[in-house]
Amino acid sequence: MNTAVQTRSQQRSVVNCRVCGKDGLAPVLDLGATPLADALLSDADLVRGDEATHPLEVAFCPSCALVQILETVPPEEVFARDYPYFSSFSDALLAHSRDNALELIEARGLDERSLVVELASNDGYLLRNFVEKGVPALGIDPAEGPAKAATAIGVPTMNAFFTADLAQQLVDEDKRADVVIANNVLAHVADTNGFVQGIAKILKDDGVAVIEAPYLGDLIEHCEFDTIYHEHLCYFSATALDNLFRRNGLFLNDVRRLPIHGGSMRSYVSKCDAPTEAARSLLAEEKETGMTQARFYADFARRVETLRDDLLALLRDIKAEGGRIAAYAASAKGATLLNYCGVGNNMIDFVVDRNVHKQGKYMPGAHLPIRAPEALLEEAPDYALLLAWNFADEILEQQQAFRDGGGKFIIPVPEVRVV
Ligand code: ZN
Repeated sequence: MNTAVQTRSQQRSVVNCRVCGKDGLAPVLDLGATPLADALLSDADLVRGDEATHPLEVAFCPSCALVQILETVPPEEVFARDYPYFSSFSDALLAHSRDNALELIEARGLDERSLVVELASNDGYLLRNFVEKGVPALGIDPAEGPAKAATAIGVPTMNAFFTADLAQQLVDEDKRADVVIANNVLAHVADTNGFVQGIAKILKDDGVAVIEAPYLGDLIEHCEFDTIYHEHLCYFSATALDNLFRRNGLFLNDVRRLPIHGGSMRSYVSKCDAPTEAARSLLAEEKETGMTQARFYADFARRVETLRDDLLALLRDIKAEGGRIAAYAASAKGATLLNYCGVGNNMIDFVVDRNVHKQGKYMPGAHLPIRAPEALLEEAPDYALLLAWNFADEILEQQQAFRDGGGKFIIPVPEVRVV
């Protein structure tokens, strides 16, 4: 590793909690120094050979119950390249989003006088459902490619980072939201409090913010350690969210557990303190199971090591018998899994992914080439390691031809199994 990079990284580590500012964070898991999980490499990058790595350590704050990583890679670095993620590449995500939108229109009585603002609106995959029903919408997203794609399909989108300042600017332009949607973005922002303050600013007094994030309880219970990467700074329990919202003038009033992304939680947040039974009981449950205490996380690291050892043993057995292995999905979680387990091109020949923007590039760290899904049929490897196990049902169905030809999938999480 480049010494200059290492020094800079150390300066960026937090010793105080990124939300409440207190010290005394308890270590949970150390995944080692890894490259950014979304930083796919081009041929030229591979030749240059100067891939930066950053420490990836997870800790628990005993004061506000927030699980977080210690390193903050600046957003300029995270978003510096052409961000390759387009939400519309997943059928399951599209269906999930449409249901969410239609339900909100109905429940909130949204019409042509309303405004729905989505933070990290990507390619407009969610907001298009509001626009189609005549409800005004505004997307805000820092990634240029997806923001342009959204505008092209008729979803007004600002190409910007959402901050408290930007929220104020919109309020000054008389743009206040009946509904603010923030799906899978809260964990990504370095200024967590500032982001939530922005939501409080832009939300009308009787408005609701609907915020989805992977649920920490599922991460721990199902050993989803590969959802930990530098782009995900926080891993939320309801308790940690409740604390975060309260300190910024908002209240966690309703919660819904969702199966998407290996287990997520949708929070309904507003300006009055009026928790539903669902919110109250999840908070009580977290207290009871001990999620609000450091000792709850004590055996997580050992469970992750066991999963790694099981996976490596299986891959070595397959190689020893002359088997060929590919991987499915050039996902960020795939990068964490491959890099933490030390799996590279000595074991896996290539990765396939449906996203054409990823094809022709290489996985960060592991440097596996990324090809189109058709390569699974052309090369007919014996096994495909599934690096997007959160879409397992969808992918297994799409890859029926590979399986009919004798190909098997290795699903690594929550425990290693072959299907
Ligand atoms: Zn804290």
